[in-house]
Amino acid sequence: MQTFLFTILALVAASIGSVLLSSSLLLLSNKWLSKVSNYLLNLAGGTLLGSAILGLIPEAAESLDIHELVIWLLAGIMLFFLLEKIILWRSCHDENCERQNHTAGSMIIIGDSIHNAIDGVVIAAAFLTSPALGLFVTISVLLHEIPQELGDFAILIKSGYSRRKALIMNMLSGSSAIVSGVCAFFLLEFMQGIIPYVIVVAAASFLYIAMADLIPEMHKETKPKESVIQILLIILGIALILFSNDHH
Ligand SMILES: [Zn+2]
Repeated sequence: MQTFLFTILALVAASIGSVLLSSSLLLLSNKWLSKVSNYLLNLAGGTLLGSAILGLIPEAAESLDIHELVIWLLAGIMLFFLLEKIILWRSCHDENCERQNHTAGSMIIIGDSIHNAIDGVVIAAAFLTSPALGLFVTISVLLHEIPQELGDFAILIKSGYSRRKALIMNMLSGSSAIVSGVCAFFLLEFMQGIIPYVIVVAAASFLYIAMADLIPEMHKETKPKESVIQILLIILGIALILFSNDHH
């Protein structure tokens, strides 16, 4: 019962909480908004890498054989590559189309709903494993969702949505995490045996988000001073996970 309450709290914090936090950041001036958003992106990169490598993978290794573990990790990374590819196929009609530039606001919402639903499953599986794992998985989801939603908000506005409608759409896509998280919680409680596999695929998801989505974004920043700040923030993100993982 307590585990379920923690899970619900975490799901609400990570989905609705991140939308509210990101929309309150919209009150900042444009210059500060992009600064804060970039800093969060680096911090999130660190927490995602830390959670995957220091938290999720060692946790799964306690119940899975190493050969089985690495196969599922690899399969997970391929799965997320494929998933992202399908979303891009569906949203791109012209030849030089990038994720940032297309106008299909509805594809952003569908893509994010799928992404958020996966985050929800990850949170549920983590809390069913241990409260500590649940905590830093939630921190990792919350931190990467804020810059993600700020980006989505900008894209939705650009493709003609009003601020109000863009906010509601972000909320709706965010709440898919709550639905999937609650469903996953009950399903996984019945099938405890598959939790370690879900944890490995969760690690694959975090590694994929960090390295395929966040790091390319970080490399757009090339000034030496800002790059040093980036590295420090990534280390801070990893440290955040290390400390909350301490007693594990
Ligand atoms: Zn996410």
